[in-house]
Amino acid sequence: MNPSIAEHYREILVAIGENPDREGLLDTPKRAAKAMQYLCNGYTMNLEEVINGALFESLNDEMVIVRDIELYSLCEHHMLPFIGKAHVAYIPTGRVLGLSKVARVVDMFARRLQIQENLTKQIADALQHMTDAAGVAVVIEAKHMCMMMRGVEKQNSVMTTSVMLGAFRDSSATRHEFLQLIGRIG
Ligand SMILES: [Zn+2]
Repeated sequence: MNPSIAEHYREILVAIGENPDREGLLDTPKRAAKAMQYLCNGYTMNLEEVINGALFESLNDEMVIVRDIELYSLCEHHMLPFIGKAHVAYIPTGRVLGLSKVARVVDMFARRLQIQENLTKQIADALQHMTDAAGVAVVIEAKHMCMMMRGVEKQNSVMTTSVMLGAFRDSSATRHEFLQLIGRIG
């Protein structure tokens, strides 16, 4: 736990009108600091470490899809959570990625301050870079607490972002197959 973050949280408690010395809040600055560091631990990771050699040779050149990857991130405008799902696909050209690694790449970028558009692109670019795939597609659907709890208070709006690279961008049939397989079109 970073004591400087905890100290700042204590000041925030005072600034919002709370008493940081009341019993329920005594350990809150430390807990909040620990939580915030965890939610932002993507800054301490890099792609090579996360993948850790889990690239395997394969003759498979068919689309690989990992859908419904749980996603928890913080928006960089309000530092409030946005929560949803990521669907990721790629078309291998000789190398496939260990299954759990796709989810770990999503986490590595999600556990930073983000906007959903950049998060989507960073995941796609990273997978393209690591696998040298013929194409990568990433779709993220998320609900933003900064929209639900404040501002316009729209509780049910879901934001969808997508990035299509390579074959997913060039071929409407490939893109269509992907969107169909993740249940976005009938
Ligand atoms: Zn926001």
